[in-house]
Amino acid sequence: MDLKQYVTIVQDWPKPGVIFKDITTLMDNGGAYKYATDQIVEYARDKQIDLVVGPEARGFIIGCPVAYSLEVGFAPVRKEGKLPRETIKVEYGLEYGTDVLTIHKDAIKPGQRVLITDDLLATGGTIEATIKLVEELGGIVAGIAFLIELTDLDGKDKLDGYDVLTLMSF
Ligand code: IMP
Repeated sequence: MDLKQYVTIVQDWPKPGVIFKDITTLMDNGGAYKYATDQIVEYARDKQIDLVVGPEARGFIIGCPVAYSLEVGFAPVRKEGKLPRETIKVEYGLEYGTDVLTIHKDAIKPGQRVLITDDLLATGGTIEATIKLVEELGGIVAGIAFLIELTDLDGKDKLDGYDVLTLMSF
């Protein structure tokens, strides 16, 4: 299946000059959403995954059906102030300024094999921060899966040494 036909390109959103890749048109097509999920499940199948971890909010949309299919749990990574119990946090750089991502301290047990999911790899800042959280809790990043990679931004350079799947490149 050519998944790219289900991604909508939105010019100048959220601000002028940005070409946004909208995956909601992939998600609301049952066949395309299932196909994309199945591709990630197949990639992860032989990696003895114990847990799927994804950053809000689109990492949940990809990660939860994958976790369900692999019959493992899902742990959310969220912006600061959203998780109710004790968390660890990591600060990461944005185009302008910084942001903070958090995870519950007890979300991962040391030695657990983790699959990280997100919709899109741009600069790699979000996923690098997510990796740090997983590893700080003693998790092993056994795989990282994205629907989309923006190749111009060289986000993959930040993922050297990790096992990475991307289903589409733009
Ligand atoms: P990065 O941290 O620069 O790699 O940006 C990746 C994050 O930004 C992901 O969590 C995406 O959800 C979001 N993002 C950046 N650009 C796009 C886009 O064109 N479409 C959808 N999400 C995007």
